[in-house]
Amino acid sequence: MSMRSTLETLERVNSKYLMFHAKTSDTDPGDARFLFSAKDNLTSKDMETCAGSRILEGYFPPFDATVIARMREAGGKLIGKTNMDEFGFGTFSTNSGLEVPRNPFDLERACGGSSGGSACAAAVFEDHPSLGVSTGGSICCPASFCGVYGIAPTYGRVSRYGLIDYGNSLDKIGVLSSKAGDLRRYINIIAGRDEKDPTSCVQPELKDERTPVRSVAVPKEGVEGLSKNVEAAFTNALDELRRMGIEVETVDMPSLKYAMPAYYVLATSEASTNLARYVGMRYGRQDGDLSLKFDDYFSDVRSRYFGDEAKRRILLGTFTRMVGYSDRYYSKARQVREVVIDDYKRVLRDHDAVLAPTMPFTAPRFDDISKMSALDSYKADYLTVPANLAGVPHLNVPCGYDGDGMPIGMQFVADHWNENALFTMAEDWEKEFDLRRPEVSA
Ligand code: GLN
Repeated sequence: MSMRSTLETLERVNSKYLMFHAKTSDTDPGDARFLFSAKDNLTSKDMETCAGSRILEGYFPPFDATVIARMREAGGKLIGKTNMDEFGFGTFSTNSGLEVPRNPFDLERACGGSSGGSACAAAVFEDHPSLGVSTGGSICCPASFCGVYGIAPTYGRVSRYGLIDYGNSLDKIGVLSSKAGDLRRYINIIAGRDEKDPTSCVQPELKDERTPVRSVAVPKEGVEGLSKNVEAAFTNALDELRRMGIEVETVDMPSLKYAMPAYYVLATSEASTNLARYVGMRYGRQDGDLSLKFDDYFSDVRSRYFGDEAKRRILLGTFTRMVGYSDRYYSKARQVREVVIDDYKRVLRDHDAVLAPTMPFTAPRFDDISKMSALDSYKADYLTVPANLAGVPHLNVPCGYDGDGMPIGMQFVADHWNENALFTMAEDWEKEFDLRRPEVSA
């Protein structure tokens, strides 16, 4: 499909899949070299930016996030800001205060989260890189549910300037696309130190070269609790890797079991402080009753416009940092984080990548999600969270389909700064794997 026809059908396609919160109305690609979209927690000058939250409705940032600026400088035209869980708080994009994106393989199912709209756009549009953000698996999870490739690079590889923070020590910006080669191409565009973000590091150069993966480690803890379909597809994928000449070895990574609880302590601790800035005075909604005392004014705006999950995380994160509790929860979680990093370092000394399924099941139906408790949904992240906690790069590749035709994905994890191994693996895998695109109609 040409860029022009993508732009001309944007409105109709979006009304079916709801991938975009804000989108361009311009149907002329001009001299753009490619079209792209970006998660709605990345600030953009020309489009409303809400991070999936009603509290930010009406916020038009005065600046572009560094990643958006770099994509535009490379000739990209931003076509839309993608729907997501509010501030990134979720696994299915159903915690959005705005629109909930639909899975392009089955409209009754979720896209995954929290970068659900980005995965949806990457699956629906041809040759379409979409920028996503991962704090605890939010690129690989939706990439897996929507059957596309997606990478969350090493923490510090890409500038976070202009990202609406969820958990500052965890957040990383990456790329989703139905083409493996796009991950290398666009990470190269957005990566690199940025003076505006002190956590974007002086970093080993991302050379455009092949780094073949020769051996992968499959942690025992990463193949527990899987649905039958995911287990079968993953077993087939391991056979395929062996046929490709890659050594596959089962290993123990006991720390993986503790990563999920530690992640939710750290992520909510950071989130609760980040949300303190939304008081109905600086960004977005400012329609409270000004005759109220200031704390009543804040409480009123926050009560009305934060969703339930944001409120839950403010409470959880405040509790885990409180005097008397922080040693038990926050400090403990930081120790677990160190142990998880050590575990990856140990295994990655002898192997080029760690591999496990990305999600334990395929994209669930919206009516099943509505029956899940918050804890059920946190638990679904046990495979994606550990790599995010360790700051190591991780990449989803589609590896099969279940009986209903829903995509299944697996996640490769490499050592810090070794994205090249992941890019090479995905490019080699793509040659062997029969990727299905959803049937798109508007
Ligand atoms: N599902 C995880 C959470 O709710 C991950 C979210 C993310 O990476 N933004 O925190």
